[in-house]
Amino acid sequence: MRITFLGTGSAMPTGERFQTGIVVAEDDRRLLIDCGSGVLHRLQQSGVGYENVSTVLLTHHHLDHVADLLPLMKARWLAGEDHLEIVGPQGTKSLVDDLLSVHDYMEGRLDLQLREVVAGEFSVAGFDVAAYETRHSLPCLAYRFGDLFTFSGDSEAFPGLANFADESAILAHDCSFPDDVDVSNHPTPETLGTALAGTDIGRVYLTHLYPHTDGRREEMLASIGDHYDGDVRFAEDLKTVTID
Ligand SMILES: [Zn+2]
Ligand SMILES: [Zn+2]
Repeated sequence: MRITFLGTGSAMPTGERFQTGIVVAEDDRRLLIDCGSGVLHRLQQSGVGYENVSTVLLTHHHLDHVADLLPLMKARWLAGEDHLEIVGPQGTKSLVDDLLSVHDYMEGRLDLQLREVVAGEFSVAGFDVAAYETRHSLPCLAYRFGDLFTFSGDSEAFPGLANFADESAILAHDCSFPDDVDVSNHPTPETLGTALAGTDIGRVYLTHLYPHTDGRREEMLASIGDHYDGDVRFAEDLKTVTID
């Protein structure tokens, strides 16, 4: 399996980190998780291409996770692709319907399959996925792909989510802010390290990084390391990780 980080930033641009998007690929199967602002461009830069992603799996409906959905639809239509499947938590159907009603010339351009999922197990784009409810300001799902990969979506760090990710080869986890930012709905390094303590995860990538984290890398890793002794790194846009 190959994991490509398209966007590792947040709702506040840094210029280097675009909003959330991750491609999960195995053999000829590809799945785009989230589609924030900039993800359409990153799809091209990564070499994956918007023609080659016909399924999007949404963690939740905040703008920094859905802003490029319509641009992705339009690019696929112009490229001669005829379909797109969008899967996400409750409300995904009305979200897409509402987006299309604002730009009604886009209605009917693609054969859209819309599917809503809840916590539990299901299949998307040929991948077996488990979903788990996170702690965030909107309903949000974390997704796990067998033993290989777990993505936290947006969430506070808490033991339930750490247990959900336990024994994954790779975990990509929201780590929005450094410890001196008073925040709810997202982790800080201390809360993340505390939640991960005792888990057995191959490697953790920190993502959903706000500009507040610029230049704070060493102290953030040290803060996590005070509680959790596993391999932790910062995710970067366009980085691909191969998992055997
Ligand atoms: Zn969010
Ligand atoms: Zn977000």
